[in-house]
Amino acid sequence: MKKLGIFLFRKDLRINDNKALQKACEIADELLCIYCHEKESSDLNPYKPSKMSKIREYFTLQSACEIDRKLTNLSQKLLIFNASLERSLEQISKTLQISYLIVSKDPGWHENQEINRLKYKFENLKIITIDNNTLFPKEKLPFDQHSFPKSFSKFRRKVETLPIDKPSGTPTQIPPMPIIDISKLRLLTNLHKDSINHKDLLFLPGEAAGRKHIDEYFKTKHASTYKETRNALDGRANSTKFSIWLSIGCTSARYIYSKLKDFELRNGSNKSTYWIFFELLWREYFQWYALHFGTKLFKFSGATDKDPLTSYYPERLKKWETGSTPFPLVNALMHELTHTGYMSNRGRQIVASCFVNELQLDWRYGASFMEKHLIDYDVASNWGNWQSIAGVAPDGKVKHFDLKKQTALFDPEKKFIRKWKGESGALNIDSVDIADWPI
Ligand SMILES: Cc1cc2nc3c(=O)[nH]c(=O)nc-3n(C[C@H](O)[C@H](O)[C@H](O)COP(=O)(O)OP(=O)(O)OC[C@H]3O[C@@H](n4cnc5c(N)ncnc54)[C@H](O)[C@@H]3O)c2cc1C
Repeated sequence: MKKLGIFLFRKDLRINDNKALQKACEIADELLCIYCHEKESSDLNPYKPSKMSKIREYFTLQSACEIDRKLTNLSQKLLIFNASLERSLEQISKTLQISYLIVSKDPGWHENQEINRLKYKFENLKIITIDNNTLFPKEKLPFDQHSFPKSFSKFRRKVETLPIDKPSGTPTQIPPMPIIDISKLRLLTNLHKDSINHKDLLFLPGEAAGRKHIDEYFKTKHASTYKETRNALDGRANSTKFSIWLSIGCTSARYIYSKLKDFELRNGSNKSTYWIFFELLWREYFQWYALHFGTKLFKFSGATDKDPLTSYYPERLKKWETGSTPFPLVNALMHELTHTGYMSNRGRQIVASCFVNELQLDWRYGASFMEKHLIDYDVASNWGNWQSIAGVAPDGKVKHFDLKKQTALFDPEKKFIRKWKGESGALNIDSVDIADWPI
């Protein structure tokens, strides 16, 4: 009997250096490639906030569409379901007997639960998960789940000299798709409707655009000055912008690392080129951190046992989200985020610090808002960085960025504030002042 495999694309929306896809090609006689994107319908539930902004959703779905186009060249296809993974498999298994599900590993607790649930629902299904989106596979790490390093520095010292696999190239052949009546499946259609004008996008979605960006970045000399420029609030070349494609797997960390090494061979290494690797290790740290801490990644007390002394103040939250706080730099950054889906690393640190320190808000609302808007949203990097700023990472230290000092350092002429109309905020964080209360 033919072995039918399902390859589930998740945050590995690439054909090149996709070790999980390669595994699927090795073991399946016939392969069904799927992607599940449950579109929330505002008609059904107008009160349920959407998990993705329009721009983030567009970026993700267009990257999936590009996979479909690439698969078509290999006489294959990507079925994009408008349903959860469980419901999608239910629909497929009505007509086909599936032997394998092959999927890249993910550090997110919810993502893992989604896979774990399948084990009970589809008893005969063999699930194969592959480390595909990190620099190191789990078995190469010099520690286990119970002895996870307590800080980034400890993690870095343990891993930075480990060998990193070379990217594995592009498959030239993929097993054929089984015969299936797709009219019976709940697939997403009209993917180009409501589309966003490409002119409004800072960056283009998909594997090809990501690869072009990375290759062009390393053709310039920007990597040699990265350390001096990476903290700037604005400017296309000041930091690498690799996260935009890394986060949904349009490229792999291994590919970037190999390009960085090629650059160093051609141009020499220096502090800046090392620092790109250093930042990739931050990403790596948070990937394993998220896996280690599981549901604690989303808990108020995070990786610690103590709740922060912050709370939920609807008016302050609204002001932060809409960029109308009394802090012009924060407002400008929030306008940038909601318009473009991107914000620099220093920008993210500043608005998150303001969120927990000046506005005294529960950090999880800030992390959720970024989850909705960032086109480079990544569960581990987003929630991990928020924990670190809110003081609920293992070091327990709240990070406070002085807003006046940050403005003087990174926007001394207020160009960024003017560009993103940051001056139009409220005078106070609350509209009712303590002095207004009757005695
Ligand atoms: C509150 C907050 C939320 C964040 N949310 C996300 C997120 O959802 N997705 C995301 O990819 N990054 C997130 N980051 C990390 C960082 O801000 C972005 O990775 C970075 O700004 C992306 O721009 P870049 O590619 O130009 O980075 P560069 O400075 O060029 O760095 C190169 C690469 O290193 C990695 N990297 C750099 N800094 C970090 C970091 N602090 N943590 C983890 N990885 C890092 C990224 O993969 C990045 O592409 C967040 C940081 C903060 C403070």
